[in-house]
Amino acid sequence: MNTSEKYVVKFGGSSLASAEQFKKVCDIIKSDERRRYIVPSAPGKRCNDDTKVTDMLYACYDAVALHNKDATVEFEPIKKRFDGIIADLGLASVLSLDNEYEQICENFKQKAGSDYAASRGEYLNGIILAKYLDFEFIDAAKVIKFKSAKSNVGRVFDAELTNAALATMLSKKPYAVIPGFYGASPSGKIKTFSRGGSDFTGSIVARSVNANLYENWTDVSGFLAADPRIVDNPEIIRVITYRELRELSYMGATVLHEDAIFPVREANIPINIRNTNAPFERGTLIVHNSLDFEETSDTPIITGIAGKKDFSVISIDKDGMNNEIGFLRRILTLFEELDVNFEHIPTGIDTLCIVLESSELDKHESLPEQIRQVAGINHIVVESGLAMLAVVGRGMREKRGTAARIFAALAHNGINARIIDQGSSELNVIIGIVEDDFNKAIRSIYDIFFNTKP
Ligand code: ASP
Repeated sequence: MNTSEKYVVKFGGSSLASAEQFKKVCDIIKSDERRRYIVPSAPGKRCNDDTKVTDMLYACYDAVALHNKDATVEFEPIKKRFDGIIADLGLASVLSLDNEYEQICENFKQKAGSDYAASRGEYLNGIILAKYLDFEFIDAAKVIKFKSAKSNVGRVFDAELTNAALATMLSKKPYAVIPGFYGASPSGKIKTFSRGGSDFTGSIVARSVNANLYENWTDVSGFLAADPRIVDNPEIIRVITYRELRELSYMGATVLHEDAIFPVREANIPINIRNTNAPFERGTLIVHNSLDFEETSDTPIITGIAGKKDFSVISIDKDGMNNEIGFLRRILTLFEELDVNFEHIPTGIDTLCIVLESSELDKHESLPEQIRQVAGINHIVVESGLAMLAVVGRGMREKRGTAARIFAALAHNGINARIIDQGSSELNVIIGIVEDDFNKAIRSIYDIFFNTKP
């Protein structure tokens, strides 16, 4: 073990939901000295019908700040949750959060904001974890910087200032706990990232210390090659590139907060998704370039399959379209002016299809008519009720016959591919089908690549 190496290790809410989970987390951290910087979430659900502490905090804040309820009474269940963990970890004689609770209740009464309220889950959990591990606690408000609300619309994270503040602070601390999910603006006002944002904090910390690895511990053993609600026991993806991950996440496969990829990708730091409840499993390694890692002969051609429903397609026909300069620009300018987002534009010589989420079309029912006017087209057809599938795999580029296998599988199962789009990067094939075929299509493509020998 190279002990000069540094790992940043983030634990999700279910990994820190109870004292029992804290003990597993502590064993994981203490089993490898490289696990130096720990980013905890707030306690999550202990069972299906439990409530996450973050949700309890939002509700408590609303009750106190908006409905003038008694802060101490409303805060009691949250206090119980944290005190329960402290007692069960045997820390009650050395750690009391009573002063913190009092301060939080007071700030709720003073309407400190719902971001402040939500952030207290990570803050308090971080204090407990730091004590339990005997690591230093660093309040994220000191090192995770947001720009001031005045100069920017909404909450804007200040990446460069944060990176400098963290790098300076952590250069003096060999081991530390930095709570996830929040930071502060220059005036000291607490701000949070969007839900699930502790993943992003972990990634920011990893970049700042130039970590060798960012471990993200959760309650699944990695990314699955397909949605387990559709495919029985799908395989775990062993290695995936950042680009493949973006493609799959965009199409609905989620384990990681979508922003979490960017800081580490820039710094070329791999992310390892691991399971706190099954630490012996290797999980999924997310890398910049798979060539950095040994590809084995059993590396699958397809890395994963994901998909989303509720798409529409606008099909446009115009004779001589291929010779008409500016045709596409006029249509896309209209989309821009109306603030309509689209997903794909497969084209033919005299035809053009625009694939977009049906909700975008619902916002502008007159869109087809307006396209007809700006582009001088007679024939335009709108079809809704489509699903889009993304079949993603870096192995596709090198392997002949991948598309043939995908479409043979669909044809064999009586599924008509309505739209086909393959980027020149040959990283994915996008297929549009009718929504009723969604599950069947995913199962057939999964089967042909993962369960059938070529
Ligand atoms: N606790 C926050 C949430 O529930 C942030 C996180 O867990 O990453 O969204």
